[in-house]
This record gives sequence, structure tokens and C-alpha cells, in this order.
Amino acid sequence: MGAPPTSAAAGTPVRPDPGVPAADRALTRPRRRLVAAAAALVALVAVGAGSLLDLRTPTPTPTGAPTGEFSAARAYEDVQVIAARSHVAGSPANDQVRAHLEQRLRGLGLETEVQDTVAPEAGQLSGAAGGATVARVRNVVARLPGTDSTGRVFLVAHYDSVQTGPGGNDDAAGTSTILEVARALSTGPRPRNDIVFVLSDAEEACLCGAAAFAASHPLAADGGVVLNLEARGSTGPVIMFETSRNNAKLVDVFGRAAPHPVGTSFAVEIYRALPNDTDFTAFLDQKFVGLNSAYIDGGAIYHTPLDTPASMDRGSLQQHGDNALGLAREFGRTDLTDLRSGHDATYFPVPGGLVRYPGWLTLPLALLAVLAVAALAWLTRRSGRASTGRLAAGFALALVPIVAAPVAAQLLWLAITTIRPGYAELLDPYRPIWYRLAVLALAAAIVFTWYALTRRRIGPAALAVGGLTWLAVLGVLLAVAVPGGAYLTTVPALAGALGGLVALRTRQTGPWPVVAVTAAAAVGVVILLPTVVLLFPALGMAMGGVAALVAVLLGLTALPVVDLLHPQAGGHRGMRALRARRLAVLPAGAAALAAVVLAGVGLVVDRFDAEHPAPTHLMYAMDAGTGQARWLSHESGPQPWTAGYVDGVADVEDDFPGLGDGELRVGPAQAANLPAPKLDVLADSTSGTERTLRLRLTPQREVRLATLHVDASTATVLRAEVAGRSVPVEPREGKWGFGLVFHAPPPEGFEVTLTVRPKGGQVALRAMDASDGLDALPGFRPRPPGVGVVGSHSSEMLAVARTYPL
Ligand SMILES: [Zn+2]
Repeated sequence: MGAPPTSAAAGTPVRPDPGVPAADRALTRPRRRLVAAAAALVALVAVGAGSLLDLRTPTPTPTGAPTGEFSAARAYEDVQVIAARSHVAGSPANDQVRAHLEQRLRGLGLETEVQDTVAPEAGQLSGAAGGATVARVRNVVARLPGTDSTGRVFLVAHYDSVQTGPGGNDDAAGTSTILEVARALSTGPRPRNDIVFVLSDAEEACLCGAAAFAASHPLAADGGVVLNLEARGSTGPVIMFETSRNNAKLVDVFGRAAPHPVGTSFAVEIYRALPNDTDFTAFLDQKFVGLNSAYIDGGAIYHTPLDTPASMDRGSLQQHGDNALGLAREFGRTDLTDLRSGHDATYFPVPGGLVRYPGWLTLPLALLAVLAVAALAWLTRRSGRASTGRLAAGFALALVPIVAAPVAAQLLWLAITTIRPGYAELLDPYRPIWYRLAVLALAAAIVFTWYALTRRRIGPAALAVGGLTWLAVLGVLLAVAVPGGAYLTTVPALAGALGGLVALRTRQTGPWPVVAVTAAAAVGVVILLPTVVLLFPALGMAMGGVAALVAVLLGLTALPVVDLLHPQAGGHRGMRALRARRLAVLPAGAAALAAVVLAGVGLVVDRFDAEHPAPTHLMYAMDAGTGQARWLSHESGPQPWTAGYVDGVADVEDDFPGLGDGELRVGPAQAANLPAPKLDVLADSTSGTERTLRLRLTPQREVRLATLHVDASTATVLRAEVAGRSVPVEPREGKWGFGLVFHAPPPEGFEVTLTVRPKGGQVALRAMDASDGLDALPGFRPRPPGVGVVGSHSSEMLAVARTYPL
């Protein structure tokens, strides 16, 4: 590290600011500097505003819009019918929705049918909590035949909802979008390629409808292009967040044909790391290519009773429709025989379009950025702006805000959730904007504080180069590990280095140095600001640290502009230098104060009330054999309402397999007069050491799912068949060596054939079924206003189980 400059305040001869050599006299004149700073700031704010405005959803068009166009108002009429109430797979309400969809598609003159089958879960079968998973599904499938088809385009959305809410957005948005797209397409000239509309069933249960279609529907036999439409919230831009592998050609069509193309190759990488799944997963094999789109902001209502049609932002619906229609038309006329590329594309939104470049450029670009930053460092040293020691110190110290901001953001959220524990059960607060701004203010406070503390010793040039070095290094790491995200740091690092080189090589008395560093910072703003804004809803406040990290990277790309604004800059002497040093804490202090105030405003504004209830999780489980009943909750720290039902902790996996492994909150409950599912033996034969049981499991009430488990201490299951199809038998941990979950079982029940090797005596089987809604249970008190339901697949579930020794 270089020696600090002599203290100006001590009255000794002053060495100029280490980052401002004598040549920079122009910018050391306060007035010139102020003008330059103001101009740079205005330019960056304008660029940032342009980037954010570009993420706005389009204006919804009315019912009178031209027939060839997508109208959110027309689509919304279907949203209201589909999401009039909860319509979980297998329920009478879902039958009504399906009848409506069939009638609408037939009314358009499309070949329409219902695929009715029993299907396994997409992907692997035995990973689910309860064991092998199947569902009875009824997909609505319609076809618009092409004139000279080269392949098929599939528009996919699921029409079932969760049990806890009507699915106004998830996925009445996608389903209604497809109906309106089908209408628009069938009014115009016929496309070249077949367009197939797939309204799938049982997505919420197990993606079983899409899996059934992809695996066994004749129209899916030759594969094709899949466009899946989803919603995981109520508002925000529609983001194309997932693609099939080797996506370059698909992304090219997306950038060209979607009128509002918001999507980034980074989202694809994030999504792969998250535990979410959609129907698209069922299509991700060698036969299909495709794009998956969803709007995701407003996540507080996701899977809850608040996911109503009224909650929907119709601008998001319009964007869904505009993009789906544009893509369907383009894929409808493209030669589909060759849509697979040899590589993935890197892509990201910029005002007015989608930048894309081939994935194989990722690593060369990252290395080029490293070289450019190295050249900048060398020239910085040669021009006398920083010594090697200072450059090294700048690099080391730039890591401080990169680490500190995410940590501080996570601590801030920890403090907020300590004050308001109900947030723990929400994907995002109802009104997250204040907390998001608080995180950004906190990141700014950390960058400003760090800058004020280090600038005088290290110098602005060394710090700027240090920040760019981290961006370039991260770019190389990302290019190796997460290639789709490498552009986030590579491109700003490259721009920053080039801007710096231009600034150093142009006449220091003219405007060009400022223009160069501002243009470079603008590149950072265009790339990183939308990323910050999209990351908040994507990850929720619980992972706000990631957005804080990207915000710091943005700050580092803009350090030369930050420096123009810095009160200490300008090489003041004497008392003015002292005053400048005092002023230097101002931006940091203001940002820190803003963070505290914004978090406080969030806590005041985003209070739980009747319209924004604190979500609670409750289930009921009864053993019909013993008559013992329990309340159960997944809440880790029970809310006051939930605490009225649960007072202890227990592992219920042995009694109610599939309700959740690990410990749940439990409390005693009154027994309800509810029958367990009936297990009848249709045939029972023994051959050698193998016993084959043909069984029928029949729910005795309207249920959402039924399960059957075999006690591992009584028998080993060798083979299993459900409704005529064999299911994998993989040994499971714990009491239950074999498990089966059947979603949307038919009222007449279903057959299970088990071939087992008994371990001596009788074989113990545990049969369970589950319905939804706790209202009619003895001892249940309706929630008061302000207390809501957690958006979870087990919320409000009512399970009845019984052991059958055979
Ligand atoms: Zn869902």
C-alpha cells in the first residue's frame, strides 16, 4: 500500500489527491467539476429510467380490439369463469372449468378432445414425500391444423388450481391467454405448422397432466416447440425464464417475434437452482424444445385464497398474450425441423429489444475483459495515478462492499422478520417496494461509507480499477460455472475498462474523460439495474442479499461517476479539504438514514389486515382405527392463531406418511366422524416366497388424494402396479418401505397390485386419503380478519388414515 498523502489539515505542504494528477486541472476546478458531475448524473438517471420504463407491462387492450390482436379484456372474461373458485384436479369445480374450455375451443371450430388417463409424475417417480406419484388427469387438447406442417407448436398452460385458492393468476392467466390466442389465430389465415393448444390438468399436484401429454398423446409423438405460460404472482413483466438446452435459435425467434421480450440467460441459471417446477419440466427431454414464461411479482398471493381474478394486473396478461401470439405466429411459419442450435445463447433485455450473443463467446469475452482491465491498471500506474501498491490495495478493499452489502441486507431482513414474524410464511411481503428500496439504500450506504473511508488513502483511480478487476474476475468465474450469468459482470467490466482507457488517453482538459466514464457506467446501469429490479421478485426478500450484491456491482461500475460527486474530490487544500472530508460522510449518512426510514415505512405501510392477512398453516389428521386426531402445522414458529391449535412438536411420518417429513407442530384435536378409505382384497395368491395382492382402494368421501404404504417390517414390495401401469419400487427410508400417492382418484377408487415378500405374518398396509377445508371439523374456529392461509399444497388439508393388516 502506498504512503498516505500528508495531512492537509496539519498545515504541511499538500500533495495533490493521489488519483488526480496535475494534468486533471480542468476537473479540479470546483465549478467545472460540478457541471460534469451533474451532467453525468443526469445521463445515468435517464439511462436507468429508460431501462426501467422498458420493463413496464403494455396497456391492456379493450374487448373491441381488432380480432387479429390479443385483448387482455377479452381474455379476462375467461379468467373470471375459470377462477370463479378453487378448482383442484379431480374436483367437480374442475370438471366445470374443463367443460367451459372444451366449449370455448370447439366454438372456435378447433378439433378438440379430452385426454383422460392415469399418469405418473414428470421426471422421476419416487422422490415425492409420499412415494411413487400418479394422478388421474384430463387434459383439454385442441389442434389448429397447419397448411404444410414442418412440426408442431404447443401452447401449454394448466387449468387446475391449488386447493387453497381460485388460481386467478396461477394459471387462469396462462389458460385464458391460450384461449384468446387460439381465437386470434383461428380468425386469420391458417399457419403453415400445426398449432396445438394443451390445457393441462394436475399441474399443482404432480405435473402429471403435462407428463401424460408429453409421454403418451399422439400429437406429442414427434415432439415440437413448447411455449409454456405461467404466473407466480399477480403483476410485473412477463419474463421468459426457462428454455430447453441449446437455445440460441429459439432465443433468436423470441427476440425477434415477442413484442415485449423480457428475458435473461441469467434467469435460466437461477431457475435451475430453485426448487420450483412447472409443466415445462415434463417436456424437457430430447423430443421437445421450448420457452417458459411467467410473471412473478406480487408473490404474496401465490397459491393463496387471494389469487383471485381481481388481483390480476391486466398489463401482465396483455404482455403474456402479445408475446404468446407473436411467438405462435412466428413459430407457426418457421421451418421447425432445425430449431436446435449447437449452443446456448447469452441474452438480456435492453431498452427496445433483447441483446443476444452465442454462448461460446462467454469465456473469450470474460478473458478479454480481464485483459482490458489489466491494460487499464498498467496505464493507470504509468500515468502516475496509482502505484502498484495502491492498485493492489484497491483490489483487496473492493471486496469489502461486495461482501458487506449482501450480509447487511440479510441482517436487515432478519431484523424485519423478527419484528414481523408473519413474513416467514410469505414468498414476498404484500407491499415489498419499501423493503426493496431499503436494501438498495443500505447497499448505497455501504458503498459510500467504504468509498469515503478508502478514497483518500488509496485514491479514486486505484479503487475504480480494483472494482473493475473484481467484475472481470467474477466474469471468468461465472463463465465457467454459470455461463448464462457471465454477461452481468463481463460486459460492465469491459465497458468500464474501455471507458477508463479512453479517459486516460484523451485530453484531460476536455469533456471526453467524463463522457467516457459516464458511457461506461451507463452500460453497467443498462445491464445491472433491470437485474436488481427483477431479482427482488424472483428470489423474495428472504434472499434480498443477492439483489444487494448486484447493486454493489452496479456501484463499482459507476465509481468514476461517484467520484465526480464526491465532496472530497477536486484536490482541495487547507480548510476546504477539511470541510470536504466532513462532507464526504454525507452521502453515506443520507443513504444509511434512508435505509432505516424506508424499512420503517415498510413496517408501517405493510401491516397485516383483512385484505393482507398474516398467513397461517393448519392441517388435521385422524386415525380412523384408534379415533385419535391431531392438528398439525408446518409453521416453524407458530403464529398466535396457529398456536391455539398446536402446542408441541412431533414427527408424524409413521402415522401419516406423506404429510411432511421431519418435525411438525402438533396439538390434540377432537375426532371427526369421517371414514377412512376402504381397502378391499380382490385377489390374494402365494407362489413360493412371493405373495401377490390385488387390492382396490376406495375413498369414502370426496378427496383430493389417496395414499397406500406398506410397513417395511412386515413385507418387502417387489413389484407394484397402479391402475394397470407399473410403478417403480424403490426402497424408502423409515417405517414405510413402499409408498404410493394417487392424486384426483376417481370416486369408484383404483386398483393396486402388489407383489411382496412377507416377513413372517400379516402384511400391514396404511391407507390414507385427504380432502381440503377444515371448516366443518369439531373444534375449528374460523380465522378472524387479518389471519390468512399459507399458499402451500398441504394448507387446510384433512387426512384420514387406517392400517389394514392383511
Ligand atoms: Zn401453481
